[in-house]
Parts: sequence; structure tokens; C-alpha cells
Amino acid sequence: MGTHEPDPYDVVGIGFGPSNLSLAVALEEQQASPSSRIEATFFERQAEFGWHRNMLLPGATMQISFLKDLATFRNPASRFTFITYLHEAGRLAQFVNNQDFFPTRQEFHQYLEWAAARIDYDVSFGSEVTTVRLPESAGSGEPEHLEIEVGTPSGRKLVRTRNVVISTGLVPRMPEGVERGDRVWHSSEFLTRFAALNPADLKNVAVVGAGQSAAEIAGFLHDALPHAQVSAVVPSYGYSIADDTPFANQVFDPAAVDDYHFGTAQAKDAFWRYHKNTNYSVVDDEVIRDLFRRSYEEEVRGAKRLHLLNLTRVASVDRAGDAVKVTLDSLLDAERREVTFDALVFATGYDTMEPTTLLGDLNRYCLRDEAGRLVVERDYRIATTPELPFGIYLQGGTEHSHGLTSSLLSNLAVRSGEIADSIVYRRSQRELGTLTVG
Ligand SMILES: Cc1cc2nc3c(=O)[nH]c(=O)nc-3n(C[C@H](O)[C@H](O)[C@H](O)COP(=O)(O)OP(=O)(O)OC[C@H]3O[C@@H](n4cnc5c(N)ncnc54)[C@H](O)[C@@H]3O)c2cc1C
Repeated sequence: MGTHEPDPYDVVGIGFGPSNLSLAVALEEQQASPSSRIEATFFERQAEFGWHRNMLLPGATMQISFLKDLATFRNPASRFTFITYLHEAGRLAQFVNNQDFFPTRQEFHQYLEWAAARIDYDVSFGSEVTTVRLPESAGSGEPEHLEIEVGTPSGRKLVRTRNVVISTGLVPRMPEGVERGDRVWHSSEFLTRFAALNPADLKNVAVVGAGQSAAEIAGFLHDALPHAQVSAVVPSYGYSIADDTPFANQVFDPAAVDDYHFGTAQAKDAFWRYHKNTNYSVVDDEVIRDLFRRSYEEEVRGAKRLHLLNLTRVASVDRAGDAVKVTLDSLLDAERREVTFDALVFATGYDTMEPTTLLGDLNRYCLRDEAGRLVVERDYRIATTPELPFGIYLQGGTEHSHGLTSSLLSNLAVRSGEIADSIVYRRSQRELGTLTVG
């Protein structure tokens, strides 16, 4: 049994990926004076800071400009900008000489780690939040805070807070009925799983999917296993390009959040219909061209080992010892084939963040629209009935209410600033006595 913190925090952050890291930056920069300090703490289930570590493939680049970092769009003078990081790392001049808006993912990871290490708030790693709830005693009177249950390395802990910001990230998606294992992986576990096997044992491998991760993994396997056959099982007729041209890119601007949030249902629908190809099931131009070049060169040499299986879907997966038996359905000839691979990677994407499980009993206070989706206010706070006067904020899982940037980094700095503003504003209302609790 854990212990209670003495006082409620102003805010507890659940998850410490880029979203809540950016929130910590925004909260820290909110402090006008020590007395106005926002009391916050963060819980992260990973043992240390890590941003999609299993996809830090050599050479893989960011899909946003380095200026869309943790702080710049909200406060270019922040001590947490990517430029400050480069300056401290002694690479600013070389970065500029490199003339590239899109750093490698490895470099951006280093930047995020650097920022995480400078944050002034407590971050508890190895700590998984299991429930957010009202305290049991709340039944009799007005609740004064929320209670957060956390599994820590030293046992269960309960923490009190007036607000939570849930930023637990995307959830890896596997096709129905397919079990993960040492030879059947999701892209989110790729590098760890790959490192656990002897490359010499991987003579015939496949990656399933049509998006950025699928294409990157196909290229990686082709490089890392020069002796192997590499198949790309693609449901479309080859990879399609991610539209990152300037007009389309505006869908990721902070202003687009207002246009989306306050737009009509038809406007929201149009955002998705016309601009889904800025992010979903699409691949960067450079990565597509690189894969095509490899495939073409192999054709010229008459030694093909990168195989694009277009319009093909996985019907079933069976393990047989170290082999993975896969049934593939091709729309091209309507044939069904059995193929055996030494490893199979599903780069089949992610489901959106879903806070329902964490919220448990609190779900009954959360308002939902006619489609059953959470109603989320412009300040990213879940709309609740008056019996729940605390702030439950979401970073992620707000595609339906705030648009395409919901699960991305593009709008991090501004979004977390808006959440920090809302928390500060609600605290001042409470202190003035115009807000009951939150
Ligand atoms: C390979 C890859 C590359 C990407 N590249 C880009 C890009 O270039 N540009 C872009 O805009 N977007 C990109 N994305 C989208 C991605 O969603 C964002 O980059 C980013 O990770 C969002 O940050 P986040 O903090 O919301 O979520 P996450 O980074 O997923 O962080 C959530 C954190 O919460 C922790 N957590 C989960 N549940 C709990 C719990 N119950 N208790 C405690 N901790 C918990 C997790 O361990 C994790 O560390 C990429 C996604 C992937 C998969």
C-alpha cells in the first residue's frame, strides 16, 4: 500500500513522451514568480526517457521541421528550443551548413533527452498509472481532488491532484488474430526484436504495410541483411507519397486547430477527406525513391531480393518452429499463396490514444457526442458533468475534436501552452472563489 502526497498537485502528467515533456516546459515558463509556481509531477512507465526508440533507424529523418520543437512556436526565446540544444551541443554552425529542415530521428531523440534532463519538475520513471478516480471518501461531500494510482518499482502509490493531463501515446495495432512473438513483430518493437536474433538466421523476411514505418523497415532490412530476401507486403499498388507541400502543410498549423474545432461537421470531414494523405499510410518522397532505385538496380543486375508484393494482404499467420507460415491473398490474380518467412514485421500502424480504461468510473462524468466520442473543449479538457469539477486534459485522442495534429509533434508547443494557460486560469478562478475546485 502506498502513501498519499501531502497536498493535491495542480497537475499530474500521465506519460512523459514529447507531449507531456512539452507541457512541463510550458508550465515551467508560466511561472511569473515562485509563489505562482504550478505544482506538477509526471509519471512515465518506461525506465528512462525514450521516444519511439525501436524505430530510431539509421538515417531515418523527422517528418516535421526542427522549428516545430517543444517550445519555439509558443516561445522562441525558450531555453528548450532545438536551436538552444544545437548551440549547447556545439553543432549549430554545422547544422546550418547542412541546410536541412529535417534532422534525423536520432538527433531529435538526443534533443528530447537533453530537454527531459533539464526539466525542473519531478518525473518518476518506471511508474505506470493504472487508474484515475475520485477518492472513496468523496461519496459524502464535494470531492476536493482526484486520486491517481501508480505502480512504481517500490510498490503502489496514490497521488492527489486537481488536474491530469493524459498523454499516453498511440497504441500499436496488429491485424485481428495475429499474435506477436519473437518472429512476428510490430514495428513499435522492431529494433529490440531484430537485435535479439542472429542476422544469419534471417534469410527470408517480410514487412507488412504501406506507411512510412513499413517503407523504412524494408530499407533497413535490405541494408542489414545483404544475404536475405526481403518482401514488402503492400495493400496498395505500391507506396504513396506523403503530401508535405506548403498549402497542404497548413493543416498542421496552430490556426488549423481553431478552424477544425469550431468548424462544421462538413468542414471536419473535408479536412480528413482532402488531407489524410499528409500523414496516414503515406511515405516520404526520398524513402520511396530510394526503395525504387534499389529494386530497379537489382532488376538491372538480374539479382532480385527486394520484392514488392502489391495489392496483397495477409490472410493468416502460423508459427512452425522458427518459421512463420503466412497466407497471402493477392488482388492481382485473386490467388492465395503460402509463404514461409524467418521473421515477419507488421508495420500496420497505431490506434489513437484511448483514455477510457484509465478513467474507469470517471467515464460516467465524461460527456460524449452522438457518435460516442468524448466531448473535448478547445482547451483539450474533457467536458464533464458538474459533479466532476476537475480538469482531465488530453494530448492525443482528439482527432475528432482538434484535427490532424492530435497525435503529431507539429502543434506540441502551442497545445501544451494552451493547456498550461487553462490550468493556470482555472487555478486563479478557484483562488478567487469563482470556480468550486478545479
Ligand atoms: C516511428 C514514429 C515516428 C514518428 N515521427 C513523427 C514525426 O517525425 N513527426 C510527427 O509530428 N510525429 C511523429 N510521430 C507521431 C508520434 O505520435 C509523436 O512523434 C509523439 O510520439 C507524440 O508524443 P506523445 O508524448 O503524445 O506520445 P508518446 O511519444 O507515445 O509518449 C507517450 C508516453 O506515455 C507512456 N505511457 C503510456 N501509458 C502510460 C501509463 N499508463 N503510465 C505512465 N506512462 C505511460 C509511454 O511509455 C510513452 O513514453 C511518429 C510516430 C512514430 C511511431
